[in-house]
Amino acid sequence: MSDTSANAASVPANMLSILACPSCKGKLVWNNDKTELVCRGEQLAYPVSNGIPALLASAARELSVAELEQLKS
Ligand SMILES: [Zn+2]
Repeated sequence: MSDTSANAASVPANMLSILACPSCKGKLVWNNDKTELVCRGEQLAYPVSNGIPALLASAARELSVAELEQLKS
């Protein structure tokens, strides 16, 4: 077991480019801190587990103002 380069928690850039918010079809932003995909327009975050996004309205959570401001930096 010497290969530790794979990061199961990240979403590849090429995958990000084809993902869209299931609600508004907007672009999603990767939040590496929380391993979530964020829809800035609706201020929603979708969880990602083992590199697989749960793009379901029922899985999304609302972001707080503080979290949104962190994403802007
Ligand atoms: Zn959206």
